[in-house]
Amino acid sequence: MNRFKFIIISIITILLLNTSIYAGNKYINITLTYDYQKHNYNAEEVFVAINGEKITDLTMPPIILNDYTLVPAREVFESMGAKVEWKKDVEQVFVTYGSTLVVIPINSDKAYVNGQAKKMDTKAKIINNKTMIPLRFVSSALDFKIEWDSKTRIANIITKDIETTTVQTTVTTEQTTETTTAMLTTKAEVTTVLTTIKAQPVTSANNEYIWYDYDNDALYIKNTGLALSDISEQDSYNEGKYIITINKKLQTSNTAFTPESDYVKSCTVSVGNKTTITFNENRIIAMDIRNVNGYICFKPIPPKEKYNKIVIVDAGHGGSQPGAMGNDIIEKDITLAMANSLKSKLDSDGRVKCYMTRPDDRDVGLEERAEMANDIGGDMFISIHINSVENNTEANGTETYSLYPNDLGNGLTSYAVAEEMLDRLIAKLGTSNRKVKSNTYVVLKVNKIPAALCEIGFLTNENDAEIMKNGVDKVGQALYDGIINLFNEYPSVR
Ligand SMILES: [Zn+2]
Repeated sequence: MNRFKFIIISIITILLLNTSIYAGNKYINITLTYDYQKHNYNAEEVFVAINGEKITDLTMPPIILNDYTLVPAREVFESMGAKVEWKKDVEQVFVTYGSTLVVIPINSDKAYVNGQAKKMDTKAKIINNKTMIPLRFVSSALDFKIEWDSKTRIANIITKDIETTTVQTTVTTEQTTETTTAMLTTKAEVTTVLTTIKAQPVTSANNEYIWYDYDNDALYIKNTGLALSDISEQDSYNEGKYIITINKKLQTSNTAFTPESDYVKSCTVSVGNKTTITFNENRIIAMDIRNVNGYICFKPIPPKEKYNKIVIVDAGHGGSQPGAMGNDIIEKDITLAMANSLKSKLDSDGRVKCYMTRPDDRDVGLEERAEMANDIGGDMFISIHINSVENNTEANGTETYSLYPNDLGNGLTSYAVAEEMLDRLIAKLGTSNRKVKSNTYVVLKVNKIPAALCEIGFLTNENDAEIMKNGVDKVGQALYDGIINLFNEYPSVR
């Protein structure tokens, strides 16, 4: 053997040895088309096995993008026994396994597991016309274990048995009937809704009844003969809740999910003879309720979009802060009574939405009161207080305060509000006029909407105290008249 031949044989031997040692570490070099672009993909091959059995006949190999493995949805997950549906209109993949439903929108880093939004480390993509979804995320969501072997580069998915099929047939009586009825209509409904709204069912078991559109914040409930009059609303903004009651028992089960949007933290549906839907708020919301394609849509919206006229009424002090006291008056109690009187007049009028910074005897921070008005984006803020002065029983009368103009574009200023309220109060109560004043009270300083603080009278003055004790409703009426007049003079801008 000459030297040259020996070298050649040695090289071949080394090459052969290498190949056998690193069998499996083959590089694949293909062109991938996604995000409207061609990409050259050159990477070590990876494989997927299910319960130890390698899948060999994939028409599209698993792809590693940004360190995460994407696999062809249908081929891989149907091999695991899951049901995979591609919703073309909304570009979402539905993977169902047992009672778990995973909805994966294309090019989004959010997925929905039984209606609960989850962040994914990587996005699902359409690559070479194949729907490619993150292997690890979806497997974990279905509660499958994943074993990764870095030598063979095999991701082995350990599936778990589904209990549903057997359980459902063995369950007796009403429960089975209910489940079956619900399941039967699912397919058609899903398709109908999905072509019109971009929503996901929040549970897999009864997914034709309750849907949530996570992108636009809207809850859909299948309308099985419901009238809008069957629905009542309870705006418990002081408790951070917006509660809907439907006067019928719905064919669904209790469920909870977490939109975690700007408006809604979480949502619960509780089924009984009546159905209660509770929106736990991230900020104060109003609710737009309407019929949409056989569903009733509940859409949380900013209050300004629903109400044309909004007033925030602030009963001074509260809870551990009683305010001034004397002549049988406790400031926090009488301001709340006056605020309630005003609120009930606005509520029965119906043209003005009234929010209270506190609905009862509780502590609420001064800044919080003004921030509430700012968050709501109201048209007017009116704070009610009672004056007092030490060692002077003579001082008496009504005064109001304003600070910044806070003109929202319709010409109404804080001063105009303070002036109107002062005029109305002295006319109604017969108290003396101490004029509109200015002071850097926190509720005026932090407020961004036209805001006035009213000192109704002096509880340290016997005559004023008497007027106020007997004049709770008069105060409510005076402020109400002033508010209506101001809205007429300065129509709100939206
Ligand atoms: Zn006060």
